[in-house]
Amino acid sequence: MDLNGIEVGSALVVVAHPDDGEFGAGGTIARMAAEGAEVTICVVSNGAMGSNDPDVARDVLIATREREQRAAAAAAGAKDVVFLGYEDGYLEDGNYIRRDIIREIRRLRPDVAIGPDPSTFFVDQRYLNHPDHRAVGLAFSAAVNPGATTVPLYRAELYDQGFGPHPLKAALLMTASNPDCYVDISAHMDTKIRALQAHVSQLGAYGGLGDRVREMAKLTAEKGATGTEYAEAFKAFFFEQRPSAQGEVKP
Ligand SMILES: [Zn+2]
Repeated sequence: MDLNGIEVGSALVVVAHPDDGEFGAGGTIARMAAEGAEVTICVVSNGAMGSNDPDVARDVLIATREREQRAAAAAAGAKDVVFLGYEDGYLEDGNYIRRDIIREIRRLRPDVAIGPDPSTFFVDQRYLNHPDHRAVGLAFSAAVNPGATTVPLYRAELYDQGFGPHPLKAALLMTASNPDCYVDISAHMDTKIRALQAHVSQLGAYGGLGDRVREMAKLTAEKGATGTEYAEAFKAFFFEQRPSAQGEVKP
């Protein structure tokens, strides 16, 4: 499929928590999948902070969130979900997380990788970004460059184990503070909402979820002057020449 000038056969979406991928890129995931790309979602944490009810057992919560993430991925049309199992709420950019993300990039060999923007500390006056999102954003950025293509990095655990370098065609950062790439998700809005609704333990009680998500996607389309009904926004990096993409990336 053609994603803003990039030919995408497969994509890897790296997120901190179950539900981050559906919030930040659910429409893009649904569109890539619907148009024939294989999408894998890699969740770095185990989701164990997903309830403030002291009576909810930790193991039950982790299992619930894994099940919900698999259901959300299936609803969006993603092929698979990988859980790295790091402790939710305590994520820090570091060599283990970097190594594991590089391994997934080299194992799955996607054309495009999507991850959180590490530079987003806050959004307007309404949201202080979760530190796990920033931590995964930093590790993801390091995994994209130089991690994905540098043989000596973690060589004993990666290259020597058969995980050879893999150049990505592009990387997109979700929840970007300065987005410059807008993806038309107009035909996939309902799918994005259905995928979000699969996270029952997190969003089941959120009555206005669908309306809110539509409103945000409409505002994003307006901000990007996409001329489409709905859009998702990213900070984009293109690592190959894209002669067909002129004019599709907004400044
Ligand atoms: Zn999150």
